[in-house]
Amino acid sequence: MEQLYYKNEKLCLGYFLYEIAHHCNINCAGCDHCAPLAKEEFADFEIFKKDIKRMSEIFFHIDLIGIMGGEPLLNKDVPKILDYTRKIFPSSNIVLFTNGSLLLSQQKAFWENLNRNNIVVAVTVYKLKIDYKKIKETAERFNVKIDFKPNFDFCKAPFNLSGTEDNRDKIKDCFQGNHCATLENGKLFRCSVAPSSRHFNDYFKTDLKLSENDYLDIHQNSVNSQQIAEYFSQPLPFCRYCNLNKRENISWKHSERKIEEWT
Ligand code: SF4
Repeated sequence: MEQLYYKNEKLCLGYFLYEIAHHCNINCAGCDHCAPLAKEEFADFEIFKKDIKRMSEIFFHIDLIGIMGGEPLLNKDVPKILDYTRKIFPSSNIVLFTNGSLLLSQQKAFWENLNRNNIVVAVTVYKLKIDYKKIKETAERFNVKIDFKPNFDFCKAPFNLSGTEDNRDKIKDCFQGNHCATLENGKLFRCSVAPSSRHFNDYFKTDLKLSENDYLDIHQNSVNSQQIAEYFSQPLPFCRYCNLNKRENISWKHSERKIEEWT
């Protein structure tokens, strides 16, 4: 899916993610959202609404909006969040990304909401004792589309703490930088790694620096198509902390919250 494209000469966005709970109840080693390191933290619904509305003003169309975490189902505002996102984006694909662990404890109203709002549920399948068959049956009963994504190999995206990487020519190979645009508190990042680094910094008392050039402030009156296209065409200052040569698939396991999982 293209990250940015033009339709009738108007700027469209392929995809963006919004983390509505930064922490997680599963905690995978090397999670590239640093969820195992995050304190309990939820997206503020009023800020979420303001951000979503603004995205509808600055982009002519958005193909896919990913509601995710951490584990998004830890956020009790999920129904309101889905209702509002569908109201503002009637024709976009909306996908709820979850580890699936909390799906079977959801009430009927939750499944009816997914059906009514035409939400796709993407379940990442790990080696966990979760009754995926029952989840599938429940989704079918409520006519909700469900997509199981096996993830037994986990992609580790390690940091270089000294910030000496030169990724100018490698950014095209960065999966997160080209497929995981992330919106958080009015800031649109071209990847999920840069905004999530604050959890890493807080937990390990490191100092990976984010600057205002690492994101677009979507609420700035002056934000325009040219500025957005330029932002997505260049590496971020933060890219100097990403060791792209050391990215590798590791077998999935629970995090022990050791710094080696992210370095
Ligand atoms: S900071 Fe740069 S290199 Fe690292 S994940 Fe984001 S876009 Fe990719």
